[in-house]
Amino acid sequence: VKAGTLASASPSYAAVALAQRVLPLLAQHADDVDQSGRFPSEGINALRESGLFGLLVPAEYGGLDGDLGDLVAVARILAGECMSTAMVWAMHCQQSDALVRHARRDLQATVLPGVADGRIYLGSVTSEPGKGGHLLSAASALLGDGDLLRIDREGPVVTGGQHADAFLATFRDRADAAPHEVTLVYVPRSRATVTPGPFWDALGMRGTQSGSLHLAADVRLTDIVGERGRFRAVAVDSMIPSGHLGWAACWIGAAHGALRRLVSLLRSPDRPRNADLSSDLAAERLARIRLDIETVAAYLHCVLDEVTEARRASRPLDDPAVQIHLNSLKVVAAEHTFRAIDRMVQFAGLSRGYLRHDSLALERCFRDLRSASLNYADDRLLTAIGKLTIMDRSVRLT
Ligand SMILES: Cc1cc2nc3c(=O)[nH]c(=O)nc-3n(C[C@H](O)[C@H](O)[C@H](O)COP(=O)(O)OP(=O)(O)OC[C@H]3O[C@@H](n4cnc5c(N)ncnc54)[C@H](O)[C@@H]3O)c2cc1C
Repeated sequence: VKAGTLASASPSYAAVALAQRVLPLLAQHADDVDQSGRFPSEGINALRESGLFGLLVPAEYGGLDGDLGDLVAVARILAGECMSTAMVWAMHCQQSDALVRHARRDLQATVLPGVADGRIYLGSVTSEPGKGGHLLSAASALLGDGDLLRIDREGPVVTGGQHADAFLATFRDRADAAPHEVTLVYVPRSRATVTPGPFWDALGMRGTQSGSLHLAADVRLTDIVGERGRFRAVAVDSMIPSGHLGWAACWIGAAHGALRRLVSLLRSPDRPRNADLSSDLAAERLARIRLDIETVAAYLHCVLDEVTEARRASRPLDDPAVQIHLNSLKVVAAEHTFRAIDRMVQFAGLSRGYLRHDSLALERCFRDLRSASLNYADDRLLTAIGKLTIMDRSVRLT
């Protein structure tokens, strides 16, 4: 299936069909990608060719015209086989959403056809040494005041940075700007000097190759995405919702895939001889795993519906209740999916849960899902949720 656009068919059905075609390739390489900590090129190239790199790109630029529901559906499916590939793709879509919603038309016309046909993988550079993960501030400034601005910045954690064809990076708007006056800039690799840092030898998510890099370039005023100094508007409207929905989809996809494999093993003649499925203890332990995954699935779809409806009605997302829901989704998904995989490892035991290269891949999923609470620190979001709770007089739940 190489879809034209998704608009005419059931959108999720068409996107899902494209994603399912890539799955055998992800399954084939996931273990080796993890073992050697290499970028999942086979899967990413297949996604480039499938049209899914342009999932969120409007049809007028050759994209599939999909929406956040499609992003969630596809990320879940991909993550069931290889969470690194799914996360690389979901973060690329997060960047493309920002371009679709906030880049000027001339920048869109230059870039989006390349995103749609899979030539441009968009990396993200928002973290920074010193300020850490904080999304809405920046230390490194845009330098100069003519038509060309100089950028020179470290990116301590950049998913697939060595493979990205372009970056969306945040900067302090001017040398004398306050840290919260942040500007988002499109930086094509062809005009930048990208110096990679050391090999990213991480506990999990090893295939994302989220190592550091140094980024230097002269960028044009027309490369600025959104208004100067007002990155917060882009973040609230696009990067936070598409990011939190996409990440949560990856995490639940990975946990769901692991549970599917576990259930399938338990129902097969190969199930471990010591697995007594008639015991109440075993039933209760499986129930706990299922409850965690069910909870995240339900909450993910509540928040997805809320954001989709707001986008349809062109309603801004800066309402405190919506922000609370989006931040809660990220924290709840990170905590519950990790707890679920931890319990699956316990349930499957030493022989099938704890060993590397087992076909259940619980050990790999455990390491991958450990990143969820760090992939934008939960602590930052919890303090934000607490402060927003005071502001949200409506106390409106999802
Ligand atoms: C798999 C993966 C891929 C990533 N990809 C990218 C990418 O492509 N581009 C990018 O820019 N970044 C990326 N990141 C970075 C990520 O988004 C985080 O922002 C970054 O890892 C934060 O670093 P940190 O853990 O040092 O936490 P920081 O946010 O810098 O915080 C440092 C410490 O302070 C604690 N802390 C912070 N705020 C509070 C608070 N309010 N209350 C209490 N404690 C607090 C944190 O828990 C942490 O222990 C990625 C991370 C992961 C795990």
